[in-house]
Amino acid sequence: MTESFSVLPVLMFHSIGNGASAAFRRWQVPPALLVEQLACLSAAGYQLLGLSEALSQPAGKHVAITFDDAFADFSTHAVPALRQVGAGATLYAPTAYVGGRATWLSAYPEGASPLLAWSDLRDLHAAGYEIGSHGHRHTDLDLLAGPELRRDVETSRRLLGAELGSPARSFCYPFGYHTRAVRAAVADAGFASACEVGYRIHRRDTSPFSISRLIVTGSTSPEQALALVRGGQPGVVPYLRRGTRTPWRAFRAARRGLRARQEPAVQEQP
Ligand SMILES: [Zn+2]
Repeated sequence: MTESFSVLPVLMFHSIGNGASAAFRRWQVPPALLVEQLACLSAAGYQLLGLSEALSQPAGKHVAITFDDAFADFSTHAVPALRQVGAGATLYAPTAYVGGRATWLSAYPEGASPLLAWSDLRDLHAAGYEIGSHGHRHTDLDLLAGPELRRDVETSRRLLGAELGSPARSFCYPFGYHTRAVRAAVADAGFASACEVGYRIHRRDTSPFSISRLIVTGSTSPEQALALVRGGQPGVVPYLRRGTRTPWRAFRAARRGLRARQEPAVQEQP
């Protein structure tokens, strides 16, 4: 059984609430279901922690809980659910959008969703939730030239440090995209870890700058959530997905040139 403890399953959530558009439903978990998903893990003996706290623990039966994008519904819907089961969590905020709306999601009605303000993030930080960086402008970092890439990553870390009073430790790649240059920029900015999507269970002996996460959706049953942390994302062959990334990046770069005329509609994750 020692082998199973050398892994750290990391779950990825976005919005918690009800009433998502059909296109966005995959990325929203109803609050009552979130309680059941987390309670099921808890009942199976897993301790639910924020990412940096989980990484700092000696190997054990832990699951890290992460939320991307800092939707305002984190405070209203996720926190009561987390409290109910005694779970910690890490929240990744795109710093340019704090207090604004999720306008990078222009392909979805959820682009109008409100995001947490700095005062909310300070309250959550004080309550023990980890606030990490989701980049500054929530942009495809792998498409940025070096200086622009570093400016985005460093700006987010500087703002989080100034607003929260302590340095941010964890980063989350917007849309999940990263390259060697992106990972280096994140490490050089002072972050200690960074999350991708990955669909695999993170192994503690691999790089902390490509921490793989498992997607929990609004249709993941509590039993399926437990199966995820035990066996990883079903139906996905990670090395095949990795093989599609380079041509997909070329496509995104080309599309970026067309962005003035045509908004992107396809994203790996919000
Ligand atoms: Zn995001």
